[in-house]
Amino acid sequence: GLMFKPLHQSELDRTLAGLRDDRHWLTEAAVMQALDQDEFLLEYQPLTDVRSGHIRSLESLIRWRHPQRGRIGPDQFIPFVEANRVIGPVTQWVAETAIAQLGAWSEMGLELNIAINASARNLSDDSLAETILAACERAGIPPERVTLEITETAAMERFEDAVATLSRLRASGMHLAIDDFGTGYSSLAQLRRLPFSQIKIDRSLVTNCQQSHSALQIISTVVDLARSLGLRCIAEGVETKEDFDAVGNLGCDVAQGYLISRPLPADQLPPWLADWPVIPGPRRSVELLQN
Ligand code: C2E
Ligand code: MG
Ligand code: MG
Ligand code: MG
Repeated sequence: GLMFKPLHQSELDRTLAGLRDDRHWLTEAAVMQALDQDEFLLEYQPLTDVRSGHIRSLESLIRWRHPQRGRIGPDQFIPFVEANRVIGPVTQWVAETAIAQLGAWSEMGLELNIAINASARNLSDDSLAETILAACERAGIPPERVTLEITETAAMERFEDAVATLSRLRASGMHLAIDDFGTGYSSLAQLRRLPFSQIKIDRSLVTNCQQSHSALQIISTVVDLARSLGLRCIAEGVETKEDFDAVGNLGCDVAQGYLISRPLPADQLPPWLADWPVIPGPRRSVELLQN
């Protein structure tokens, strides 16, 4: 049967704190320990070139295998991490892990590019550029094959430092994407002042867009904007063939979403790619996705 043992005051305090705040487990110390104990992992979601149907790039996405809480998605902990001092070490781990993985795939003959998520907060840390470039060097990956996706969650602090970090990365050949465009702080002002080479349209605009006149208009306008600034345009959250056709017809260059694939563990990527039915040719991928 059930046995109740008396609680110490400290345990009781923790329990009560836990009831008040169900994130009591999420502390800076817990994040540092998780890094130390290898509890984070990356999954990789393929991005497909809309016109050729080729998979040229993957986005790395972090997950936490928590010993008590099981698998935790980034929405459950990245906002906390970004708001605290641990975003530096986490982004460093992500960049090193993703780039090393790309190096391993390269040795298997898979020529892919990788996108890594970073927080605007990371950009005021001038060691980030160094870390990423060193990881590229170690893995034998040219920086041209790496894209840093920047998500704004708060007005960018120390804007001049961010400009310096991004300019340095861009000068090395790395690509920069503005993530979740159309939401929050991912704004036009940033597009003008920062050296982005890609726009990722937020999935809240893309999923089911064919059912919404205004969503289609907005995507079309963002595509025009991207064209006029010489940027690649990526649609995220492509869940159906209808979404895919719509963003393709509106002129998006790249599509990402569950229609193509969910994010995959590293070991599932090579067999998935081997099964991907690419037949190059204009708009061929649209037909391929019909099956
Ligand atoms: P994001 O960078 O915009 O990544 C895309 C998110 O959309 C991912 O969620 C992905 O799994 C999800 N997604 C992709 N296709 C579809 C689709 O067709 N339908 C739907 N409903 N969702 C789709 P995930 O992996 O839960 O990541 C959420 C967010 O957490 C990311 O949004 C990013 O802002 C953040 N994040 C993830 N990994 C990292 C990381 O390594 N570092 C940092 N700083 N942030 C990360
Ligand atoms: Mg992203
Ligand atoms: Mg994001
Ligand atoms: Mg996004």
